[in-house]
Amino acid sequence: MSRTKKETIQSVKGMRDIFGEILNYHQYIEKKAREIASFYGFLEIETPVVEKAELFIKSEEQGNPVVEKEMYSFRTKGGDFLALRPDNTPSIIRAYFENGFQGWPQPVLLSYGGLFYRHESPQQGRYREFRQFGLEILGETKSFADAFIIYVFCNILKDLGFKNFIVHLNSLGDKTCQKQHRRELVSFLRRKKNYLCAECKKRAKTNPLKFFDCKNPKCQELKSQAPLIINYLCDECKSHFKETVEILDELSIPYYLDSTLVRGLDYYSRTVFEIFSKEAEPNLALSLCGGGRYDYLAKMLGFKDLAGIGGAFGQERIAELMKSKGLSRELVMKEKPRIFFAQIGESARKKALVLLEELRNEKIGAIHGIFKDNLRNQLKIAGELQIPYAIIFGQKELIDKMIMVRDMKTGGQENIPQEKMVEYFKEKLGIRN
Ligand code: AMP
Repeated sequence: MSRTKKETIQSVKGMRDIFGEILNYHQYIEKKAREIASFYGFLEIETPVVEKAELFIKSEEQGNPVVEKEMYSFRTKGGDFLALRPDNTPSIIRAYFENGFQGWPQPVLLSYGGLFYRHESPQQGRYREFRQFGLEILGETKSFADAFIIYVFCNILKDLGFKNFIVHLNSLGDKTCQKQHRRELVSFLRRKKNYLCAECKKRAKTNPLKFFDCKNPKCQELKSQAPLIINYLCDECKSHFKETVEILDELSIPYYLDSTLVRGLDYYSRTVFEIFSKEAEPNLALSLCGGGRYDYLAKMLGFKDLAGIGGAFGQERIAELMKSKGLSRELVMKEKPRIFFAQIGESARKKALVLLEELRNEKIGAIHGIFKDNLRNQLKIAGELQIPYAIIFGQKELIDKMIMVRDMKTGGQENIPQEKMVEYFKEKLGIRN
């Protein structure tokens, strides 16, 4: 029975296969981010993709329905209620206490990278399975930590080739400031309820701050009249924010004080930030990175008090923007093998493995066409992969103990003795030991 297209199994909505050039970008981003985070003293940690669902539900006051709705959760055969992580900060706090990090010298600086899952409506730059790289500083209340996190993220973006980005910054104050502001905001939203979208009408009771995130034009218009949290900050929160901004000034970080930036989650207090790239098209101006302080989160999760600040960038958004704008293209491609090993004939095939091993021992990346017989097909692959050099190795080269090297751009070819192969490519590719 033949299957129609409709019947064939396809990937899950909002989840994709990643390969080819975009994967090269992902790998480059991961490598750079890891290197920079490690330089600044962040210890890498991997936490499980699956956690108790309670961990994420508890991270929201009165169980924020948005978090529950967007969470991939399931009951196991044993009756446990588990979830695919939508976010890593709750897991990081759990890991901090579970592994006794409170006994370590404070603050503890942690970094992570991995897959996250949110049941959102998929669109460009918003997926149901996506990659984040994050940084967290645990056990530190000082504003220096807030500025430091932002600084390290900016350094990662700079190193990736972003020249034109801006940090949007706001302070959400502490519990006392938030309580006062919430009262005023709820009363404002009640007064304007006839002008609000249906979602915001509902949110007015459960999560009024979310009103500031609403993209509905009617709600957007009202934003300028709404009470802003920044005007409700107590003296301590005010100076914490002022210090953070002053440090960013000293570090020459470009920022914009965005008093309507609230971020969706209940657990943030004081500093919140999002980083945008001006390289992005205006209609796709999604944040590349976001985060904030979460001094109340550990208590909400049932642990002891623990101050913290952190953030994460979305790898898909960064990789897609880098690829479309060609940022760091040469560097990304440099990581790719720059030699294609094409062989012809059974005897050459066996010897090709020996020569490939020589390249591998010298850490010279090469791709092979070892399962192919036809030279033209092999060179076609090398061309498609934009590999600059091809080694052509047939019966004649085997007997003469030579290799033929083809410059894929010019089509020029030269014969090199096999014992000079490693030396030749080190020189050509600028590889130094
Ligand atoms: P958040 O965890 O919501 O604070 O988001 C931090 C960063 O992760 C954002 O700035 C985005 O770059 C990225 N991000 C969040 N949600 C998604 C998603 N659904 N798909 C792709 N990237 C996302």
